[in-house]
Amino acid sequence: TLITCSQQTIVIGLAADSGCGKSTFMRRLTSVFGGAAVPPRGGNPDSNTLISDTTTVICLDDYHSLDRTGRKEKGVTALDPRANDFDLMYEQVKALKSGVAVQKPIYNHVTGLLDAPELIQPPKILVIEGLHPMFDERVRDLLDFSIYLDISNEVKFAWKIQRDMAERGHSLESIKASIEARKPDFDAFIDPQKQYADAVIEVLPTQLIPDDNEGKVLRVRLIMKEGVKYFSPVYLFDEGSTISWIPCGRKLTCSYPGIKFNYEPDSYFDHEVSVLEMDGQFDRLDELIYVESHLSNLSTKFYGEVTQQMLKHADFPGSNNGTGLFQTIVGLKIRDLYEQLIANKANARAEAAKA
Ligand code: ADP
Repeated sequence: TLITCSQQTIVIGLAADSGCGKSTFMRRLTSVFGGAAVPPRGGNPDSNTLISDTTTVICLDDYHSLDRTGRKEKGVTALDPRANDFDLMYEQVKALKSGVAVQKPIYNHVTGLLDAPELIQPPKILVIEGLHPMFDERVRDLLDFSIYLDISNEVKFAWKIQRDMAERGHSLESIKASIEARKPDFDAFIDPQKQYADAVIEVLPTQLIPDDNEGKVLRVRLIMKEGVKYFSPVYLFDEGSTISWIPCGRKLTCSYPGIKFNYEPDSYFDHEVSVLEMDGQFDRLDELIYVESHLSNLSTKFYGEVTQQMLKHADFPGSNNGTGLFQTIVGLKIRDLYEQLIANKANARAEAAKA
């Protein structure tokens, strides 16, 4: 029998506002798959695409139908669906998913113009990241797994200040104004997508420090949908129970304000979910193994893999708190999902060959 081995591309959607940690998350994800993602070689230096052995990450800004000038003329923001070409996004994601290469446009973030397109080959794992991966129903239906990074306004503000004020020299007022200006379209077009996500990472100010307004210590919630094929949520202690856990003590060094975990079943937009929460930050990353050993269903390949990944990228933002921990865990769950999907396909082919 001749068994044709058509490659299967799985498609992951990652939605978030800009400056909310998507690229950091992508670096953690590609690292779990065992390789760093780099821009396409020899192509446009302003390409937004990242490619590794297994994974291609495309930025959905490339599907802007209006460039910066066009948006200004029409008075629409980049968040507005009218500034984006969902027909082309759908056609190209569909083509890649079925194994066909595409000529994808490039939105040049430096000039604000659309550059000549680049050739994208179908990868094993295609990640579409940006403002609208779950906005269009046709595109949404192509996703094998979807993630929404939900950064609360307080935290978004703190991160923007750090980046735009410290690194880009913007004023506090202008940062405040730009967040305010984006808010109506953000609320109308971006935020509602979280109801479709299989996993949501919510980032909130800590509850361990009364009236904290620094936004340095974070309370992070990993909301995992139940009943998603090839995805079984991580749990603490006993699946489906409600647990509050303070790991600080003999086995975990904590300084003020400490660390608190929480795990419980809940509902989210009428879906049954499991929520794992971590408030606070780690003092010593190597002791993370203690926390890891109390979590189940992590989809690790060996004991301590989460800790190893976190240590490997200790310099990435969020490595000492729930953002880094949960991004790493979601990366492992995506690897697991991918491997199950592939195994299932191979089985189906073997069955078909027998028949
Ligand atoms: P995006 O790709 O969504 O624009 P990045 O991953 O480049 O976001 O992150 C943008 C900035 O936000 C970083 O330079 C950093 O200052 C801040 N940031 C991102 N993730 C975190 C985190 N987990 N903890 C603290 N700061 C973060």
